[in-house]
Amino acid sequence: MNEVNPFETAQRQLDKAADVLDLDHSVHQALREPMRTFIVNFQVEMDDGSTKTFKGYRVQYNDALGPTKGGLRFHPDETLDTVKALAAWMTWKTAVADIPYGGGKGGVVCDPTELSESELERISRAYVCAVSDFIGPEKDIPAPDVYTTSQTMAWMMDEFSKIKGVNAPDVITGKPIGIGGSLGRGDATARGVIYTIREAAKELGMNLDGARVAVQGYGNVGFHAHKLAEEQLGAKVVAIGDAEGAIYSDDGLKHKKISNNMKEHGVFAKDIEGTEFLGDGDKGNAELLELPVDILIPAAIENVLTAKNADHVRAEVLAEAANGPTTPEADEILYENGVYIIPDFLCNAGGVTVSYFEWVQNRNRYYWSKSEVYERLDKKMTKAFADVHERAREEDVDNRTAAYMVSIEKVAEAMKLRGWV
Ligand code: NAD
Repeated sequence: MNEVNPFETAQRQLDKAADVLDLDHSVHQALREPMRTFIVNFQVEMDDGSTKTFKGYRVQYNDALGPTKGGLRFHPDETLDTVKALAAWMTWKTAVADIPYGGGKGGVVCDPTELSESELERISRAYVCAVSDFIGPEKDIPAPDVYTTSQTMAWMMDEFSKIKGVNAPDVITGKPIGIGGSLGRGDATARGVIYTIREAAKELGMNLDGARVAVQGYGNVGFHAHKLAEEQLGAKVVAIGDAEGAIYSDDGLKHKKISNNMKEHGVFAKDIEGTEFLGDGDKGNAELLELPVDILIPAAIENVLTAKNADHVRAEVLAEAANGPTTPEADEILYENGVYIIPDFLCNAGGVTVSYFEWVQNRNRYYWSKSEVYERLDKKMTKAFADVHERAREEDVDNRTAAYMVSIEKVAEAMKLRGWV
């Protein structure tokens, strides 16, 4: 599924919006590449006493609007181009959500499924040690991402604080509540996705009560998106999938039933009475993407919608919870077919928005209630959605291009005001 280079996709998306904007050549050139790219190699003692060298990345794409911000992945297939693409998307994401941050991203090439807890702790601390001069509360603020958790963030924050001789909860977000995490961070991304779907439905005159939804990916985002689609929208989730496969029920899959089943059996819900198994892995997920639903939520990995399957998507709304789920070729087909796309860096901006709230709370040493967090998140997401929707309508362009236009203008203005271009 990943034959498309995500950084080339990010550059092509930028080029398209730059063209419509008639963007100044010098700004366009500056925005096509990251400002700073760090590659670090560091040694970690393994449980068997041997020493292993790991490679880590940190990309600071653009910091015109503020310190760079973005997650850290621990993944065996992590590549510099993936990190660069994700850092670019973070730049557009923070800009569209009107958060005073630039975009960044990082990762360590490792397979967490083959590492013990103490090895993971030593890798986390060694990575921070290697990048400690480049990150900081006013420079670059990491967060969790694929295969990193609030515990990873806790180790990293502690290590950074030790190195600098200060207590610095604001160097990293996504921390456990007990050491400065924000209430409401756990389901913030999914909540943001749901808010944008609610706004899209208003614009499209779509009745969400009983609307049919398919969710691909059942991790942090997909799991909560299922729950909130039921609770907040009154929608009916008819299909869910993860790397193991996908299941379907015409009557709707109740979140409680699925989550209870997962707790009991410890794996994704395969054999649940009253549900149809669509197939293992890629086969089941390919079917899920083409189901007759009102709303499709890809919440797993990149490049799942391509020129091969885009024409078969039957959803009216495509809410891109995942980063980069749609290739540029698929994008054009979907737009032609009238699918309303809520583009990734708008749709999934809820996570970084609450991360920003966490940083604000850390810096003020004053913490908000969950309802305060939700209320502020709703305001930010609703405003970001409206900006993009209006821009698309005014310029007669697709939503992704409109989102890029809104974001690029903010970043370009900051670069010009600073005298960079
Ligand atoms: P996660 O690791 O918790 O879950 C990922 C899910 O995708 C798992 O259920 C996994 O089984 C499934 N998956 C993996 N490969 C698959 C495949 N080939 N087909 C179908 N399912 C597959 O990750 P997450 O935090 O839920 O993130 C999901 C997506 O959302 C990613 O693209 C991530 O970058 C994006 N995102 C996450 C956040 C956040 O706050 N967690 C914020 C913004 C964007």
